[in-house]
Amino acid sequence: MSDLVTSLTELLGPNGFVTGSQIGDKYSVDYTGENPHPPLAVARPRTTTELSAVLRACNTAAHPVVIQGGLTGLSGGATPRPGEIAVSLERMIGIIEVDTAGMTLTAWAGTPLQAIQDTAADAGCLFPLDFGARGSCHIGGAIATNAGGNQVIRFGMTRNLVLGLEAVLADGTVISSMNRMLKNNAGYDLKQLFVGTEGTLGVITRCVLRLYPLLPSRATALCALRSFEDVVDLLRLSRQRLAASLSAFEVMWAPYFDFVTDHVAGLESPFESDFPLYALIQIEGTDSESDTSQLESMLATAFESGTVEDAIVAQSEGQRAKIWAIRDGIGEITRVLTPYASLDVSLGLEQMPGFLRDIDTELKGAFPEVVILVFGHVGDNNLHVFITTRRHVDLERIHQIAYEITGRYEGSISAEHGIGQLKVGYLHYSRSTTERALMRRLKQALDPKGILNPGRVLDTQDPRPPG
Ligand SMILES: Cc1cc2nc3c(=O)[nH]c(=O)nc-3n(C[C@H](O)[C@H](O)[C@H](O)COP(=O)(O)OP(=O)(O)OC[C@H]3O[C@@H](n4cnc5c(N)ncnc54)[C@H](O)[C@@H]3O)c2cc1C
Repeated sequence: MSDLVTSLTELLGPNGFVTGSQIGDKYSVDYTGENPHPPLAVARPRTTTELSAVLRACNTAAHPVVIQGGLTGLSGGATPRPGEIAVSLERMIGIIEVDTAGMTLTAWAGTPLQAIQDTAADAGCLFPLDFGARGSCHIGGAIATNAGGNQVIRFGMTRNLVLGLEAVLADGTVISSMNRMLKNNAGYDLKQLFVGTEGTLGVITRCVLRLYPLLPSRATALCALRSFEDVVDLLRLSRQRLAASLSAFEVMWAPYFDFVTDHVAGLESPFESDFPLYALIQIEGTDSESDTSQLESMLATAFESGTVEDAIVAQSEGQRAKIWAIRDGIGEITRVLTPYASLDVSLGLEQMPGFLRDIDTELKGAFPEVVILVFGHVGDNNLHVFITTRRHVDLERIHQIAYEITGRYEGSISAEHGIGQLKVGYLHYSRSTTERALMRRLKQALDPKGILNPGRVLDTQDPRPPG
């Protein structure tokens, strides 16, 4: 071990390889705050060559490493386990190139998402990946977790926005696959090995991202509805009538909506009555007047058919911000709910009512005082379910019940936040034995000593597949 420390210190210098009391607290845990543990040391390479040398040395010594981006992850993936060396991408930062004809942006993996959005906007383009952690998360972390966010219904997840990337394997091999072309079917699409695999197969160092034309105007509505069937009808109508302009279709169930509007100052309900469900619809385009009239015309049809009970269309940026603040109010109320279980599940639309009914019945059966708040990117099949009894001791049982129900409805236990360490024990509810065995074979092929992010995504205790 001391040989490894000596060689990494020589390689990176004292500022690039930090040990002991010099290690800042931020490297101990991701955004979840769960199971914090300081890493043995932090390697902060500045170049792909340095990072490759770090991994080669750790692989030779068979020493486990945890890869760290902006540490905003919500699954414990970047949180160190005892004895791990953290490899932080925080010094591999910056925009390398913006190509406004080819509509690509090339960046180092440690670049914050917000810097990429801003650089694209300055060049008259849009990089459409967007979510609350934009200021602190790295683009490399967003790629590694295949992050979703607010505009998936229109632009897809991060996977759809990556044209090429460079990654370093566990043994230090650099795979440069910096494709800039929209079409490239020459053999396997190797970048997909690293998108959404949460740093278990390689470390992303650079990326080529896809840009879109800027969409300067938007129109936003908040609708009140009587039933989930009406929600599905409204989604169908929105898809037909708003077509590619539709950029958000978010749904809030009454307990969530009421909790936020009751507990967060300045966020009163804009409706005079209470309703079981609320849908936030947003379209983005190039002309404010025609966008608003397109949205209003769709809503008029929804009123006529009785799909929507009431609706408001934002008349100003302030009103739009208030509507989104209700949807994003979870950030304000988590303090009141803590400790809580936060599910990020995907389900077929037709499965959602049964799933939520079983969640309600079975959790209330086990914990009569449980509070369950639901909202989600329903247009993306994604529900966020916050569950609390306000007792930490109940969380494991809550997760067990909730993920078993998710599996029963053939849903995914992770729609967008990844498996990390926190959901490893539940992967079998969403992935079959053969799927997990194939994942293990890929892991074995690319990282035979298991040094990269061990215990994330796949359980290290599971038996290896035969052969
Ligand atoms: C307020 C808030 C809102 C969020 N909203 C959303 C949302 O709407 N949608 C959504 O999908 N997610 C959301 N997230 C979670 C989101 O997954 C992360 O914020 C982001 O994708 C992770 O980036 P990071 O750089 O912080 O990665 P980290 O947290 O540092 O790491 C996450 C995982 O990726 C690995 N990793 C990091 N960098 C690399 C790299 N360069 N190469 C290989 N592996 C790497 C880590 O080992 C770890 O397993 C939110 C988080 C917060 C805090």
